[in-house]
Amino acid sequence: MAISQANIEKAIDTTADTVVRNELYFSDLDGLAGDGDFGISLATGFKVIKKDLPEIDKPDVGAMLLKLSMIVSKHVGGSSGPIWGTGFMKAALVSKGKTEVSLAELAGMVGNAVDGIMARGGAQLGDKTLLDALIPVRERLDAAAAAGETDMGALLKSCADIADGAVDSTRSLVAHRGRASQVGARSADTPDPGIVAIATILTDWCKAFGVERAAVAPEVAKAVA
Ligand SMILES: [Mg+2]
Repeated sequence: MAISQANIEKAIDTTADTVVRNELYFSDLDGLAGDGDFGISLATGFKVIKKDLPEIDKPDVGAMLLKLSMIVSKHVGGSSGPIWGTGFMKAALVSKGKTEVSLAELAGMVGNAVDGIMARGGAQLGDKTLLDALIPVRERLDAAAAAGETDMGALLKSCADIADGAVDSTRSLVAHRGRASQVGARSADTPDPGIVAIATILTDWCKAFGVERAAVAPEVAKAVA
């Protein structure tokens, strides 16, 4: 079961739509416990990606993701730039030269991105950051690759379910990393905007690839296309 470079490019383009559409909403969510810059920071970079993606030189998946990591690092501000830039860069390193990736290779890309984000930001599972969505998704992909799953639509839906579920399961936690940690207890009972973003992106991917899925967390329901 291979995933084509064209489908990865389509997922990136869909991500840019998700992020740009939620520029204000994701910043509003960040403002509940953080400094309110998350949506604007991310959208600034993804507007460049949306514009440049059709034009950039992309002979293979790794080259495309490396170029995107440079755009993110240059244009995404705040604490998100290094985190998202590292994610793209680490995924690029293990997809160099590939014009399609197997499920095992996709799991490796996501795994390397997660490891890089953990090293870059110093956050762990339970710190109420986007890693609380990404780490269980990574584990789901590893399990799917090990089991030789072939239904990519069902797997995508399952990953979106996991990320969406993380919005509610982490809602009552106090943030320990990222800007939200600076307000301590004020972050309890507010969703983490990074987790909402990952869940929304995966739910929008479902729609883009014809997989039926309804959002569960109210913030994701509000943010999806
Ligand atoms: Mg912020």
